[in-house]
Amino acid sequence: MKFNDIEFNTYFKNYPDVNGYFGKYGGSYVTPELQIAMDEINEAYQTICKSSKFISELRRIRKEFQGRPTPVSYLERLSGKIGNVHLYVKREDLNHTGAHKLNHCMGEVLLAKYMGKSKVIAETGAGQHGVALATAAAYFGLDCDIYMGAIDIKKQAPNVARMKILGARVIEVKDGLQTLKEAVDAAFMAYCKEYKSAIYCIGSVVGPHPFPMMVRDFQSIVGIEAREQFIEMTGELPDAVVACVGGGSNAMGIFSGFLNYPVDIYGIEPLGRGIKMGNHAASLTYGDEGIMHGFKSIMLKDENGNPAPVYSVASGLDYPACGPEHAFLHDLDRVKYDVITDDEAIDAFFELSRMEGIIPAIESSHAVAYGMKLAKTMGKGSVLINLSGRGDKDMDYIIEKYGIR
Ligand SMILES: *Cc1c(COP(=O)(O)O)cnc(C)c1O
Repeated sequence: MKFNDIEFNTYFKNYPDVNGYFGKYGGSYVTPELQIAMDEINEAYQTICKSSKFISELRRIRKEFQGRPTPVSYLERLSGKIGNVHLYVKREDLNHTGAHKLNHCMGEVLLAKYMGKSKVIAETGAGQHGVALATAAAYFGLDCDIYMGAIDIKKQAPNVARMKILGARVIEVKDGLQTLKEAVDAAFMAYCKEYKSAIYCIGSVVGPHPFPMMVRDFQSIVGIEAREQFIEMTGELPDAVVACVGGGSNAMGIFSGFLNYPVDIYGIEPLGRGIKMGNHAASLTYGDEGIMHGFKSIMLKDENGNPAPVYSVASGLDYPACGPEHAFLHDLDRVKYDVITDDEAIDAFFELSRMEGIIPAIESSHAVAYGMKLAKTMGKGSVLINLSGRGDKDMDYIIEKYGIR
């Protein structure tokens, strides 16, 4: 099957299906206990996503608290340097807290509030999801427990401080390697005990149904705004849309505004230091079908079928799988997935900063790097890049490791 075989405009109605499948990917592979909790969340979401009260409250929050709509900016100097292709960026770096993650965290915590929960639970690696969730929890007045590996707590001191200032409880996980994987396990364990009073908030379009659908829906505001803004600015659609893919939430956000239109779409994975296993996190490019963290998708596995060790200079991209909808769109050939190395991303980080006065997150720099590469091959036309976040969080690391270029 190809994407064009799906009747125009029925895509979002039919995918995922009622069991959370995008083709063969997705679903929910969790313990019976957790399935009860997932069913409860799904049922609540199905009701409130049609409720005008919920929709108008979310709309008000996006405007008054998050500062949406975020603009689309034309990259005049960078475009001029490259040639005749016009480059644009959707400015999620200007969303409150400096990245797209707050778009789904505000939705998830508003849902928790509607469900009468008093607490939200999550794990965090680099701390970006933890900070966004702590922000949303503070706004709605809910308790927030963030599980974090002891090593990550040491590495990410500023984000740990932010979460604590925002009133979240940061729970140190000292098992195993003391990083993200152990934090996920600890958070899930806590959730099994507390699911009557708490909900688990997943930080991307991954995990068991309904999260890949729900997070996509909450992020779709990015694509809806971007399409309208782009047409208003130029009178037409962009020729290409580019976003970086970790779990895939910022990408699904902007892609969802363009999937049903004649636009080429590119999802960019991190190739890190190179193609050897362990040196990258390009799960769609080098992975296989499998099940992990409660869902079926395409993922990087070790010899034993467990999540493989992955690496990227961008901590937000080093995840061994991608959301099930990306696996589906990959198989349908609707989205082209490609890779960008650490070095290419670092070059793009400096290029965008110098040429346009925008310091991008190192995750987003992967999309910028690809957008520039693509523009050089196109000759004419336009490319819209999702700038998923700002680079303030990355500056110390980049200066220490690469110096100022
Ligand atoms: C977390 C993060 C990402 C990666 O997450 P996705 O779910 O793939 O979008 C990308 N960019 C920024 C700025 C992030 O913080």
